[in-house]
Amino acid sequence: MSTQHEIPSYLTQREIGPWGVYLEQIDRVTPHLGALARWVETLKRPKRILMVDVPIERDDGTIAHFEGYRVQHNTSRGPGKGGVRFHQDVTLSEVMALSAWMTVKNAAVNVPYGGAKGGIRVDPRTLSRGELMRMTRRYTSEINIIIGPNKDIPAPDVNTNEQIMAWMMDTYSMNQGSTASGVVTGKPISLGGSLGRHDATGRGVFVVGCEAAAKRGMEIKGARVAIQGFGNVGGVAARLFSEAGARIVAVQDHATTIVSERGLDVAALQAHVTANGSVAAFAGGEQMDDRGQFWGVDCDILVPAALEQQITEVNAGKIRAELILEGANGPTTPGADDILRDKGVTVVPDVIANAGGVTVSYFEWVQDFSSFFWSEDEINLRLTRIMREAFAAVWQIAEDKKVSLRTAAFILACTRVLQAREMRGLYP
Ligand code: GLU
Repeated sequence: MSTQHEIPSYLTQREIGPWGVYLEQIDRVTPHLGALARWVETLKRPKRILMVDVPIERDDGTIAHFEGYRVQHNTSRGPGKGGVRFHQDVTLSEVMALSAWMTVKNAAVNVPYGGAKGGIRVDPRTLSRGELMRMTRRYTSEINIIIGPNKDIPAPDVNTNEQIMAWMMDTYSMNQGSTASGVVTGKPISLGGSLGRHDATGRGVFVVGCEAAAKRGMEIKGARVAIQGFGNVGGVAARLFSEAGARIVAVQDHATTIVSERGLDVAALQAHVTANGSVAAFAGGEQMDDRGQFWGVDCDILVPAALEQQITEVNAGKIRAELILEGANGPTTPGADDILRDKGVTVVPDVIANAGGVTVSYFEWVQDFSSFFWSEDEINLRLTRIMREAFAAVWQIAEDKKVSLRTAAFILACTRVLQAREMRGLYP
């Protein structure tokens, strides 16, 4: 987009990337914030940025260094909360944007958290299990000064899982001298994790997908769904849509794109991915060679569930879906948003669509504090209720103010954050 944003001194023009997308989204919500717009600058500056060196001894005796981050974007409504990502393309701009989207997401579904995010610039596939553990522990020790059950609570994100959370919890606890299960969420069940957390993000995508489809008069049964990403979010969403009678007509992951007009067998695809690490060479569908063609696949529902900035001005025009459910964080650029709006596509934004994960993280944190654990049915019921209510509130704002669902979600969330900001006041 054309708007010029002030670039923080620690980012270059080239690095503005996802943070620039987020700033543009804030510009779009600002006219709707009334008197609270006076505080909007708060949202354009992360509260705290910690950048750390993460050295490890590799199995062959050499020393490797990785760049790690933890950004606390906002803590007006509660402690920082958000995942930790291990990926070779992690940058400060990305972690800043992801932390800000957590602020918006947590406020949109009204869980009592601010927003934070962390990451290490590393391809974890190049590490042995021992190296991965040493890197995770050293990173946790380095960010130990700003995390804690009441300060900032990490969780899984791209390429991090229950095992990583167990190591983070253990490292923090060893430094504290007592077991602090509430310092991270997304833990294994045996360490105070919550039932339903693993599937929660994908389940939330499915729940809001059903709500949005109903608004558009679309039946889930028989709907054709294309999914980018087949990890914790895309894989679970695929399963739930397929169980509800939808056809999964395309799946793209880091390796390739698999298509099938009849619909892919999701259980077989999941087994294939577990065994082989990607959807490549899956026998139950045809491989599409040109990755870009994925966006033009004939489908009713499109679920980007991988990384940021995938739907852009270059490919948005090709999209044939009526409904986009953002399982990923930040998959659509503002320019693409405009093209999709003009085409009449309904985009359920990330800050609502993928909020199921952090919602059940909140349940996990509450359960850890009370040491009383809920049944999976109870968790799924509460999750479904929160997702439906948030979706309905956002839909209503979008109708009333004639704005996109993204701007509506930002209106709801930024109002909550800035009201808290104003009530707390500046100190000193
Ligand atoms: N990484 C997830 C997200 O982007 C979950 C964060 C959490 O549970 O704290 O929303």
